[in-house]
Amino acid sequence: MSRPVSAVRKPEMSVQQVPPTSPSNDSQALCLRQRKTRWGSIVFFALIHSVAFIAAPLYAAQYGISPFTIAFTALYGFLTLLAISVGYHRLFSHSAFKAHPALKLICLYLGAATFQQSALKWSSLHRRHHQLTDTPGDPYNIKFGFWYAHMGWIMFWKQPVDYANVRDLQKDPMIVHQHQYFQAWAIMAGVAVPIAIGALAGHAAEAALFAVALRMTLVYHATFFINSYTHTFGSADYDAKTSARDHWLGALLTNGEGYHNFHHAFPVDYRNGIRWYHWDPAKWIIFIGSFIGLTTDLKRTTPARIEEARRRATEIHNSQRMV
Ligand SMILES: [Zn+2]
Ligand SMILES: [Zn+2]
Repeated sequence: MSRPVSAVRKPEMSVQQVPPTSPSNDSQALCLRQRKTRWGSIVFFALIHSVAFIAAPLYAAQYGISPFTIAFTALYGFLTLLAISVGYHRLFSHSAFKAHPALKLICLYLGAATFQQSALKWSSLHRRHHQLTDTPGDPYNIKFGFWYAHMGWIMFWKQPVDYANVRDLQKDPMIVHQHQYFQAWAIMAGVAVPIAIGALAGHAAEAALFAVALRMTLVYHATFFINSYTHTFGSADYDAKTSARDHWLGALLTNGEGYHNFHHAFPVDYRNGIRWYHWDPAKWIIFIGSFIGLTTDLKRTTPARIEEARRRATEIHNSQRMV
């Protein structure tokens, strides 16, 4: 999962070469993703899940778990997942706002702690997901099934990565450094520092089991739910032509990314949940950050455009019901 990829190496496939095929055109799909059992990812996932769901509970049953570890694991899990939403997703992938270098560094550091590849690679794949949603060129295409969109696309397929679609990010030395030295960033932020903090509190073993393994596993599935759950369950009030859905439970499971139909309709909007009661901590952080200079140029869709999208989506739904 954390294998670094050179930021300047020759693209494996140009996005422009990806044909706008229909989802049913499997021959084109085979040209894009390659069937490959990725033993490194499989063994890593097996290990981390075993530690998180077997070793950690057994340890807790035998020795208990300190309040420090519970609080630290919950906080680090929340912050690292937030770094994916605020940093990897809305800042780097979609340029939904501009960030102070300090916030950018925090997002790169905490994002690396999730072991979800570099911000550059994550953003490249995610931009392709938006460009080619529900087609064979979509790296986590839900049309290939819930499991494929959740984890299968990583474990059993090799996805082409074309860094041509993240040239803007390649101009940022911090992003390039995180990409080129990703393993070091990930091990430092995701393993070494949490264990060191646990050791300072006298709970190094607990930190390894809970703040590293359990936290990383839960953050993985929260992120994966964005590609699987929020492309399956819920309503399509803003874009009737995509599989992306809005669902309150999806928002809870993904820490605010569950208003995914709105997001696919307006991907550069810094918000996913546009109502005040929508669970969207990433939106709140970005908004609050604007008062202290951490974030600027927050992009918002006008109410008129949102209303127009709703009207068009309703028309399509009604016409489909009449057929
Ligand atoms: Zn999506
Ligand atoms: Zn997105």
